[in-house]
Amino acid sequence: MAFTIPFDNTYAALPGQFYSKLAPQAVKAPRLIAVNEDLARIMGITPGGPAEMAEVFGGNVQPDGADPLAQLYSGHQFGTYNPQLGDGRAILLGETVGTDGKRRDIQLKGSGRTPYSRGGDGRAWLGPVLREYVVSEAMHALGIPTTRALAAVETGETVWREGGLPGAVLTRVAASHLRVGTFQVFAARGDKQSLRQLTDYAIARHFPEAEGPMGLLKAVRDAQAELIAVWMAVGFIHGVMNTDNSSISGETIDYGPCAFMDVYHPHTVFSSIDRGRRYAYANQPNIAVWNLAQLATALIQQLDDPEAAVAEATGIVHAMPGLTEAAWLRRFRAKLGLTSARESDLELVTGLLTRMAENQSDFTNTFRALAAGTARDQFTDPAVFDGWAEGWQARLEGEPDPKAVMRAANPAFIPRNHRIEEMIAGAVAGDYALFHRLNAVLARPYEDQPEHGDLQRPPLPEEVVQATFCGT
Ligand code: AMP
Ligand code: MG
Repeated sequence: MAFTIPFDNTYAALPGQFYSKLAPQAVKAPRLIAVNEDLARIMGITPGGPAEMAEVFGGNVQPDGADPLAQLYSGHQFGTYNPQLGDGRAILLGETVGTDGKRRDIQLKGSGRTPYSRGGDGRAWLGPVLREYVVSEAMHALGIPTTRALAAVETGETVWREGGLPGAVLTRVAASHLRVGTFQVFAARGDKQSLRQLTDYAIARHFPEAEGPMGLLKAVRDAQAELIAVWMAVGFIHGVMNTDNSSISGETIDYGPCAFMDVYHPHTVFSSIDRGRRYAYANQPNIAVWNLAQLATALIQQLDDPEAAVAEATGIVHAMPGLTEAAWLRRFRAKLGLTSARESDLELVTGLLTRMAENQSDFTNTFRALAAGTARDQFTDPAVFDGWAEGWQARLEGEPDPKAVMRAANPAFIPRNHRIEEMIAGAVAGDYALFHRLNAVLARPYEDQPEHGDLQRPPLPEEVVQATFCGT
């Protein structure tokens, strides 16, 4: 059967103020690196030959039914409002409704300049494209809501950053690309009508049970609280939690300078541009509340009496820290093998984390080793672990199957940053073996795969990646 994408577009049917319609810019020599056939099938797509798919996912051929556009949005970047954002290097081709009944966006990222490109070239280089491919698919396999990767294509063109680098295009799939910033741009303009249209659209698409702007705010809050808790539970640091990278659906979006922690420390930051440590690991729950407050501020602008809504919106936002903490505790209980809840559990969890931070413990390997009984080896002073473990063992009494609970909550494999860097260096030199191996291993993160034990190893001192850079 021929390559077909059964488009069913709703965003393109909204009025023109929400986007600019334009096609991706063609690239010189598109070559398919990877296509995610499992995801394609769920989306109702019939995959085709590699050359044909490279033309479409490289942006050279517009598939039947696509209605390409760049979306408008604004946002707070590192706390400062920037009224001029939007898809500067991305094009939404359209949407499909999958065999699972789910509607998803198909977006090319790195597909050329748009009216929102500002000074940028609209392009992406291979490194961030492969990083997003591997990390977003790993997140999905870990059970974390996230955008996904449908395809990656080399463009055959050079992208100029610090020097010349191979260009690439990522095909990203999302529940939608609506962000906090999509609402902010119309609020900042005082455009109530557009805000109302967008609110109705978001409710219909993501939270059909929600009632009105405050119902939407609550639904986004709940989704984001769960999301941040599960990030924390796997040691994920997003790196650029700007409001334009904060999705309405509650998916992880925009894999720029993100990374998983190796050694546990709550203040860990990776992003080279986060000089104020705003988006440090332990600060993520606070930032999510701050971002929700920006959404609240935007949403209430559409009401005829915004003042009256302030109290309600404030209450909704103020409830978020408690919700995130509850979700966080539920996740960390499972990481310790607990299915029941006791008041003392918070202290048990923080007791372990504090000791880990003081003992250079690897976050992922320490939790994984709990079920195996070898966690003490992860501490510079194993006696420190033993002291904590006494209380933990006592608490585990009466738990039916703590090992199974732990093994389902503590992954063996995460995309470690030094391996991602190694994978990118290989790909730039034309060797995609590690890219494909990472995708295969990370698709089953909760299974022991002894033959891939090298991918569980934390970085050696000389392998530690100090900073990751934005996906530009
Ligand atoms: P990000 O930090 O990746 O979320 O991007 C922030 C904004 O910069 C978005 O509006 C992007 O579309 C835009 N942008 C990032 N890189 C480029 C680029 N190479 N060319 C044009 N716009 C870009
Ligand atoms: Mg972004």
